[in-house]
Amino acid sequence: MNLEALRASDAAHHLHPFSDNKALGEKGTRILTRGEGVYVWDQDGNRLLDAFAGLWCVNIGYGRRELGEAARRQMDELAYYNSFFGCTTEPAVKLSAKLAELAPGDLDTVFFTNSGSEANDTILRLVRHFWAVQGRPEKFHFIGRHNGYHGSTVAGASLGGMAGMHKQGGLPIPGIHHINQPYWFGEGGEMSPEEFGLARARELEAKILELGPERVAAFIAEPLQGAAGVFIPPSTYWPEINRICRQYDVLLVADEVICGFGRTGQWFGSQTFGIEPDLMPIAKGLTSGYIPLGGVLMNQRVAGVLREQGGELAHGYTYSGHPVCCAVALENLRILQEERIVERCREDTGPYLAQRWTQLAEHPLVGEARICGMVGALELVPNKPSRTFFEDRGRVGGLCRDIALSNGLILRATWDAMLLSPPLVISRGEIDELIEKTWRTLDQTAAALRQG
Ligand SMILES: *Cc1c(COP(=O)(O)O)cnc(C)c1O
Repeated sequence: MNLEALRASDAAHHLHPFSDNKALGEKGTRILTRGEGVYVWDQDGNRLLDAFAGLWCVNIGYGRRELGEAARRQMDELAYYNSFFGCTTEPAVKLSAKLAELAPGDLDTVFFTNSGSEANDTILRLVRHFWAVQGRPEKFHFIGRHNGYHGSTVAGASLGGMAGMHKQGGLPIPGIHHINQPYWFGEGGEMSPEEFGLARARELEAKILELGPERVAAFIAEPLQGAAGVFIPPSTYWPEINRICRQYDVLLVADEVICGFGRTGQWFGSQTFGIEPDLMPIAKGLTSGYIPLGGVLMNQRVAGVLREQGGELAHGYTYSGHPVCCAVALENLRILQEERIVERCREDTGPYLAQRWTQLAEHPLVGEARICGMVGALELVPNKPSRTFFEDRGRVGGLCRDIALSNGLILRATWDAMLLSPPLVISRGEIDELIEKTWRTLDQTAAALRQG
C-alpha cells in the first residue's frame, strides 16, 4: 500500500485516542516505521530524535532484540495461561518476586493488569474492599488532584483531574474529590516555592477534615505530574503529604506509571521525593513499552488484609499476569539492572542533561526550564520574567512542537509547555544534539511569532 492509501484507510477506519479525528483525517496521520536507540523513522525516511520516549515509556530505547526473543521463547513454550482458579506461570511468579525486590519499603505484593489505567481502576476497588472487610465500608472516598492524570478508564479518569476528560462521559463518578496541584510556576503567585508546597499539601488536610477522616479511603497523586506539564513539586510538599496521610489513616497511592523504572534517576519517584506510599500503580517503563503490562504494588499492611480477610477477590483480567508480557518485563528489568541504566542516569547523563536543559532558560521565550532526572519541561511565555501565559493558550506550544518535528526532534506540548522525557539510554552526544535542536526550534518559534 502506498502512503496516501494508508492515510485514507486510517482516516476511514481508525478512531485515534486523544486526537481531533476530523482534523487528523484531513491532515493525514504520521506513520512511524522503525526505531533504534533514541531514534525513530517516519514514512518519508526522516530520522527523528524521540525526546519523549514514545509516551514516557521506551526507557531502554528502541530496537532491543532481546525483548522480542524473550517473547518468542515464551510464546513457543506456553503462549498463554491465566492466573485465575489456583493457577499461575513461571514468568508471573518471577516478575512478582523481582518487583518485590526493586520496590521501596515493604511494598512486596503485586496485582497484574494490562495498563496503568487498569491499575488505577484496580486500586479503587481494592482499597474500598480493604476498608470494607475491616468493618469500615464508609471509608470509601478518594481524593485526587486537579490536572492529575491517572488514565482513561472510568475510575482512572475520575481519579484524575483533567476537566476536558471529565466533560466526556459524565465523570467523575461519585466518591472522588480533587484538591489543587502544587504547580508553583503557574499558581504560586507571590509565595516562595516552599511556602506554596506546604499550602497546597495542607489542602489535603482541609479536604480530609471537610469529608471526615472516617470517610476518606485514600489520596492518589503522581510523584511529579506528568501529563499536566511535568510539574515538579516543591521540596516541602511530599513530607507534609506523608504526615497528613499517616495522621488521618488515609492510604497514600503514588502513581508511578511515569516515574517508575528510572525516570527520575531512582528506580521509583517515591524514592526521589521521599514518599511513603501504601500502593503504587506501575506500567509504561515496566516493559519499556515493548508490550502492554501494568500492575499495582502494595505494602504488607494492604496485602495482608486482602489475603487474610479479603475472602475471594472478585476482580481480575483475562490477561492478568500474562506470561509473555511478564517474560518481556523480566528481560527489560534485566537490561535496566545489568547495564546500570538507572545509575547512569542518576550519576552521569541525568546531571549532564539537567545542566544543558536549564541553560535553555536563557532563551527569551523560556520562562522556566525545569527537570528532574530524565523528565523535564520548558514553559514558553510572552513576557519574561513575569510568570504569565500566552492569551490563546496552546497555540505557541503547538507551533513549537511542529517546528521541532521539522528539525528532526519529537517534543510534546501541553498547552505552552514543551515536555521532555527521552529514553533513559540517551548518550551525552545525543543530549548535545537534543539541546542544539531545541535551541534552533526556540529561535525559529520566536521568529515565527514576530512575523505574527
Ligand atoms: C499513562 C499514565 C497512566 C495510564 O496508563 P495507561 O497504560 O495509558 O492506561 C496512569 N497514570 C499516569 C501517571 C500516567 O502517566
